[in-house]
Amino acid sequence: FVPKTPFVSSPRSVNSLSMAMERTYIMIKPDGVQRGIVGNIISRFETKGYKLVAMKTRMATKELLEKHYADLTSKPFFPKLRDYMLSGPVVSMVWEGKEAVSTGRKMLGATNPLESAPGTIRGDFCIEVGRNICHGSDSVENANKEIALWFDESEVLDWESHSQSWLYE
Ligand code: ADP
Repeated sequence: FVPKTPFVSSPRSVNSLSMAMERTYIMIKPDGVQRGIVGNIISRFETKGYKLVAMKTRMATKELLEKHYADLTSKPFFPKLRDYMLSGPVVSMVWEGKEAVSTGRKMLGATNPLESAPGTIRGDFCIEVGRNICHGSDSVENANKEIALWFDESEVLDWESHSQSWLYE
């Protein structure tokens, strides 16, 4: 079933058809899930205008984390980071839109929550770097790798949003 567009006044978009859309991997860490901040984080990305193209709740595994944090495995804090990430369910999401990767990072705030500006997710909801409630891809290349790591291809959906022409000129 394909619904008819309800508003004929919807502005037609030319640019958005050719605009390069990015996808970013956003993950709510176990503390974000335990503390009931999942809805707030989803709401921020949703009301910003980004499109949710994949989401699931799952337990991470050692193998996934070693790949996801491949550049950090030699750091002294890695064992603690791995245990923290294995301490409960995570929520994995893929959000799509214009400059979703860099904007997603801005919305998350700095790695150290005490250096994150108020108004960012980490700035508003947490205190310590080892309990910073969320992850966001730091480059388009890493986003693509992380999406492929945490999701099967069939779990990431292409769908047309009716808001598109109200969000993009
Ligand atoms: P980001 O998550 O902002 O991309 P990094 O990739 O540098 O930051 O680090 C990944 C995660 O590792 C951080 O979000 C944080 O949970 C943890 N981490 C980073 N540095 C430290 C540290 N010095 N002590 C404890 N945990 C850390």
